[in-house]
Amino acid sequence: MEEYDVTIIGAGIAGTSIARELSKYKINAIVIDKNNDIALEMTSTNMALVCQGGDSLTFRPGTLHAELNIKSIPLWPKLTEELGVPFKRIGGLGLIRNKSDYMKFLKMYTRAFRSSLRRDAPYYISENEFKPLQFLDRKSLKDLEPYISSKVLGALYDPNLSVTDPIKLAKALAENARANGIEFLLGNEIKSIEKNKDYFIVNTSKNSIKTKFVINATGINVDKIAEMVKARDFTYVPVKGILTDFDEETTELFSHQAFYLPRLGDPHVRAVVPIISGGLRVGIYLDFVMRTDKSLPSQGLRHNLNVIGDIIPGYPFRKHIKRTFFGIMPLTNAETGWHDFIVDIPNYVPRWINVVLGPAGVSSAPMLGKKVVDLLMMSGVHLEPKPNFNPSTKRGVGNE
Ligand SMILES: Cc1cc2nc3c(=O)[nH]c(=O)nc-3n(C[C@H](O)[C@H](O)[C@H](O)COP(=O)(O)OP(=O)(O)OC[C@H]3O[C@@H](n4cnc5c(N)ncnc54)[C@H](O)[C@@H]3O)c2cc1C
Repeated sequence: MEEYDVTIIGAGIAGTSIARELSKYKINAIVIDKNNDIALEMTSTNMALVCQGGDSLTFRPGTLHAELNIKSIPLWPKLTEELGVPFKRIGGLGLIRNKSDYMKFLKMYTRAFRSSLRRDAPYYISENEFKPLQFLDRKSLKDLEPYISSKVLGALYDPNLSVTDPIKLAKALAENARANGIEFLLGNEIKSIEKNKDYFIVNTSKNSIKTKFVINATGINVDKIAEMVKARDFTYVPVKGILTDFDEETTELFSHQAFYLPRLGDPHVRAVVPIISGGLRVGIYLDFVMRTDKSLPSQGLRHNLNVIGDIIPGYPFRKHIKRTFFGIMPLTNAETGWHDFIVDIPNYVPRWINVVLGPAGVSSAPMLGKKVVDLLMMSGVHLEPKPNFNPSTKRGVGNE
């Protein structure tokens, strides 16, 4: 039976960013995934936004969600450059149609500055790493987006908001980790895990592995894998988000991310994002579902067509639909609406880390790996830096 110091289960953005960070150290580690390729679940079914500015600064102070996102802001440009992955600052527009929208954005704007731009803030971010938000009047907004609806009177403009290609990023993180010594075992579903005093036996559909430490980064399945060793000390609910992609011809219509504030009693997101490979992505119709629910209700596409028609009226979007698809994400604290990440060692199960992301999980990837390395060190794992770590080299993982 093969033996490892650390086994990472899950090769989405969480597992691959942790693997890449670990590959900087002398450690014998492996990543296992049930699929035959990297990032085929949540990491491939999202808005592809990197929360780089006002959005992450408005996350609730004191949460891990805020901490990992804000600390990731300055790391993104270097990480994507090292790995040769696209990263583009497109800027975000909070659309204002009336005084009430304006007052709500004003509150967000003030909170963003209060939470992180002051030197004594818990996650201080210096002003040169962050361009200030500004309010745009109708004329300035029209100059940026000529096809915007005439009902929009202005916008809160965040020049920092960015996009990436999360699949390319996860793949590049995995390939770089592999070139630096981390092993990958794909096409192996975890079936059971035995907990012993000093090690775990991880049984997959095809192999058994002995490991001292487990990092459980299995996306929507984190709770099920944790239950295998009684390491579940959290709850979340699965939320389905339905998105629609419009074809490359729509690229010219809009160049910023834009969104309307939620309406009272309407939980759905109303946003458009120009995606890095071309075309527009629109959503998000949200639904609380069973995690096994693969249905694509027609309300999803209807909602998404209404959203894009409200932002850019008069264009035949129906003729330009490329695909409608969904992602299912875990939402913690659903009852209060204050989602948080979980990246922690559960009580009573040492040598085990659960990783639950959810909204803005891709955006937090650069800092997530560092957080897990800190937890491993705090648990007594000896991590000696590798002098020959190469941040850009790659070795193929999964399908080409
Ligand atoms: C609709 C929607 C929009 C979003 N928009 C954004 C956005 O714009 N920006 C942003 O930052 N975040 C966004 N997110 C959140 C982001 O997509 C997630 O936080 C992130 O992808 C989670 O990554 P992960 O690695 O934890 O999970 P996953 O990508 O799901 O990876 C988990 C991996 O575990 C593997 N696995 C599961 N069970 C087993 C098993 N039994 N055995 C072996 N392997 C297993 C899976 O195959 C998978 O590869 C969005 C999410 C959704 C759903």
